[in-house]
Amino acid sequence: MITTTDEQQPSKASALSALLEDAAARAARYRGAVDDVPVFPGADALEALRAGLGTLRDKPAAPQAVIAELADAVEPALVASAGPRYFGFVIGGALDSATAADILAAGWDQNAFNTLTSPAAAAVEEVAGEWLKDVLGLPSGASFAFTTGGQAANTVCLAAARHQVLADAGWDVERDGLAGAPRVRVVTGALRHITIDRSLRLLGLGANAVEPVPVGDDGAIDVAALARVLADGPRGPVIVCLQAGEVNSGAFDDFPAAITVAREHGAWVHVDGAFGLWAGASPATRRLVAGVDGADSWATDGHKWLNVPYDSGYAFCARPAAHKASMAFSAAYLGDASETLRSPGDWGLESSRRARGFATWAALRELGRDGVAGLVDRCCARARRFAGLLAKVDGVRVMHDVVLNQVLVRFGDSDDITERTLAAVQRSGVCWMGGTTWRAQRLMRISVSGWRTTEADVDRSVEAILAAYRGVSG
Ligand SMILES: *Cc1c(COP(=O)(O)O)cnc(C)c1O
Repeated sequence: MITTTDEQQPSKASALSALLEDAAARAARYRGAVDDVPVFPGADALEALRAGLGTLRDKPAAPQAVIAELADAVEPALVASAGPRYFGFVIGGALDSATAADILAAGWDQNAFNTLTSPAAAAVEEVAGEWLKDVLGLPSGASFAFTTGGQAANTVCLAAARHQVLADAGWDVERDGLAGAPRVRVVTGALRHITIDRSLRLLGLGANAVEPVPVGDDGAIDVAALARVLADGPRGPVIVCLQAGEVNSGAFDDFPAAITVAREHGAWVHVDGAFGLWAGASPATRRLVAGVDGADSWATDGHKWLNVPYDSGYAFCARPAAHKASMAFSAAYLGDASETLRSPGDWGLESSRRARGFATWAALRELGRDGVAGLVDRCCARARRFAGLLAKVDGVRVMHDVVLNQVLVRFGDSDDITERTLAAVQRSGVCWMGGTTWRAQRLMRISVSGWRTTEADVDRSVEAILAAYRGVSG
């Protein structure tokens, strides 16, 4: 039974300050000590976490006690991806300014849906979106959406693509759906990211729409093969998906050549550049994305290489009308009629959502153009350091040209030794990286994506890797 004394009362201002300061102080202490904690939690930490979470109670509890319970239970079980020696997936720890901005976003509790729910959130996204195009070297007229991540950004871009290629064939997919529509071909490299396939499923095009194109040794699309695949199929609605940054090797498709071929077939060209698109932010790596601005749409992640907190991705579209037609919606009660601000909900998948623009604005404001370039350059340099130090050792091989921030390594020319070396490194707590299968071989996959990784962190990680390898190879 609920009594009046059980109702939650707003905290007094001083109690609220204490609560938020306590939460922020805990986050700050964690981040301050993150260099020294095991990079991956042990099984015991996860067991303790389960016990520490307790059971659902009948009675309310004081916020301060709840936060203490949560932090005490969770902290020992965290993955130190905020720290300098986490090299798994493509995960970069968030910048301090962006983290603090996200804390404000939580405190301000804005709904970034439209210009009535939060004109401030809409305005900040508008500015941050313009800055992103500038930094990435994308066309200034492109439209954009702040998404949960690369998956959602690919989905938004491919929805715009679906709209346009079917409109060109005289079909209104927004009104009539896909039943009875002309078939849409999707031509893309064999080593595309799997989120492309999921986007195609969600959009009703189906994973079978994909016509895979062989890739070269580095994982980049074979442009002659792309031309053959395009020519071999029927003319009609076609989307070509290219890639900036293959998820294992970091390889880039040859954009000028591939886009020229795609255009000859009237294709919409989408580029998945979840991390690789950031190469455009640095003069040292810009050549890798030369010509990418000639595409129709681009997906990238803020939570990867801009080092903003989860969740944060961006979709860009050179054809704003197609983008908006695929996403915009309205209802009388929504009443969003700003003359001067764009409504975020008309460009992305979600309606109600967190104000992601604050953290992105903060990161770009903190770093500036030079800082983003420096972040990309430092990560690439540290990846090359990993490769250089490891390749010197007998029995250790780096399997590709390190063109970006990704490094693939094989140990003892053996899947088994590689696997066991990887497991031993992961157990060491010194650093963490994942494994992958690349050209039918098991490999260690190192991704340097965070602002905190120093040369000393690389050296310490290499020591741990080599110790693990020696332990395994006897
Ligand atoms: C990470 C990644 C994605 C998916 O991004 P999420 O933010 O995890 O949804 C898509 N494509 C590529 C190439 C990626 O590296």
